[in-house]
Amino acid sequence: MAIRTIGRPPLADRLDLPLAPGPPCLPSPAYDAARRQFRALDAVEALASEPSAGPTVFLTGADLYLPGSPFVFGVSLPARSTALVSTFRLEGEVARLASVIRHEVAHLLGLAHCAAPGCLLYPASAPADIDARGADPCAACLGALTRGAR
Ligand SMILES: [Zn+2]
Ligand SMILES: [Zn+2]
Repeated sequence: MAIRTIGRPPLADRLDLPLAPGPPCLPSPAYDAARRQFRALDAVEALASEPSAGPTVFLTGADLYLPGSPFVFGVSLPARSTALVSTFRLEGEVARLASVIRHEVAHLLGLAHCAAPGCLLYPASAPADIDARGADPCAACLGALTRGAR
């Protein structure tokens, strides 16, 4: 699993993880000028076409959204082993960034969202949701993982 930075996202240098440089900026066709945000799915699909040696999580400081969500912390494309995480809404908390990365990596490993409070796979729509969940998947999610969920 590689973690690649897009430009210089805030918080990234405070992560206790090895980082590799990625493209200097998100693909401009994914930018929505009216919302001043990037369309998360368009952006991660374009990034999935970058040459890579394996599953990759990209980090950006730009703000992302999906249809139906005012913003998202991250998005993943498990079929293409690529995820994109934004630091924009994390309010400077590096622990939140680490949690969102782990959450997206879990999606890349095949896990879906989980309704169990405290589970890493609990979906977050606000920073407090990230703070409330644990660092690991719950027992049911771990079971799905070891059974080879896809
Ligand atoms: Zn998720
Ligand atoms: Zn779970």
